[in-house]
Amino acid sequence: MNPKTLLNDVIGTIPPSGIRKFFDLASSMEGVISLGVGEPDFDTPWHIREEAIYAIEKGRTFYSANAGLPELRKEICRYLKRKFQLEYAWNTDILVTVGGSEAIDIAFRSLLNPSDEVIVLSPGYVAYEPCVRLAGGVPVIVELKEEDEFKLKKEQLQKALSPKTKAILMNFPGNPTGGIMTREDFSEIVPLIQQSGIAVVTDEIYAELTYSGKHCSIASFDEIKDQVILISGFSKAYSMTGWRLGYIAAHQDLIAAMNKVHQYAIMCAPTISQYAGIEAMAKGDGDVEMMKDSFERRRNFIVNGLNRMGLKCPMPQGAFYVFPSIRHTGMTSEEFCEKLLEKEKVAVVPGNAFGASGEGFVRISYAYSIDEIKSALERINRFLENS
Ligand code: PMP
Repeated sequence: MNPKTLLNDVIGTIPPSGIRKFFDLASSMEGVISLGVGEPDFDTPWHIREEAIYAIEKGRTFYSANAGLPELRKEICRYLKRKFQLEYAWNTDILVTVGGSEAIDIAFRSLLNPSDEVIVLSPGYVAYEPCVRLAGGVPVIVELKEEDEFKLKKEQLQKALSPKTKAILMNFPGNPTGGIMTREDFSEIVPLIQQSGIAVVTDEIYAELTYSGKHCSIASFDEIKDQVILISGFSKAYSMTGWRLGYIAAHQDLIAAMNKVHQYAIMCAPTISQYAGIEAMAKGDGDVEMMKDSFERRRNFIVNGLNRMGLKCPMPQGAFYVFPSIRHTGMTSEEFCEKLLEKEKVAVVPGNAFGASGEGFVRISYAYSIDEIKSALERINRFLENS
């Protein structure tokens, strides 16, 4: 028999990640400079690693409460208050997850009935559409526009809303565009969200990497706070991708529901990582600042370099990606990336990996050293001159 006939109808329609496909190819080649993966290049700060080592030494290697260690949940609440003026109760409103990734998955598995619509912004993080569809939902795509600095506009939201809309998924600062929404930007759409009563799943994993002004969380609008599921994590802010640690803050009824999915699927986030997470949030502000300053310098360097060689690239205000247009080259984003890899051995990600509206762009991560960025820019320049 064909084992594939055993699978459900959705899984077969979900493509493998367009990022992975490309990087498997790049990793089989010699001498490639990769500006592809969305991962900070810093070591996890030593004092955070030390706490994990200490936890192992002390034998703190057991399951934690499903929702996470109380001390970590308290620390998350202090952090959200200190940084974004958000008030949550540690014992009812916080759930510690296996990265932001698990948080996205369990949010939709808890919210959706079959055929519920979810407004998904595009270009957007590769996991969003698959997570919605695997939870039985129907993604309704809203195309963010370069001329709007990849912000969500009120008219776009209005048009996408229908009686079947259950939720909207947002990600500011955004992957892959680096777009942000200011308080004024959110003020335009909040009344519509309040009126419609839909859930807002907001992935704010890049909140700490906001370069102009302070990050504004949509959860800070009191009139819709009970509708908001705030997702974040430790991967980007503290350079802790491999620790698999994230969290959700939301109304207690939503947290209780998501905790059911979490407890039966996951049990708890890795306990040793949770001890490291307490240290990160309590004493990591200086590390965050240092990394952010470094990313900002690299952002300025790469944007100036790309613009100088004619790859039109507005200054992104958040995250660690630039998303230049490659339309004038006449190549599709996949052609551009394939040829750049083949001819100059530089790996970047085709924009269409982030949805159809990413076509005509490429995503370049600048979470790499200035030396690597400099060499990559020289190679990209040569590629453009010769093509
Ligand atoms: N959301 C966004 C927008 C991301 O870019 C990523 C990682 N690339 C994640 C969530 C997942 O992060 P993690 O599971 O490591 O917390």
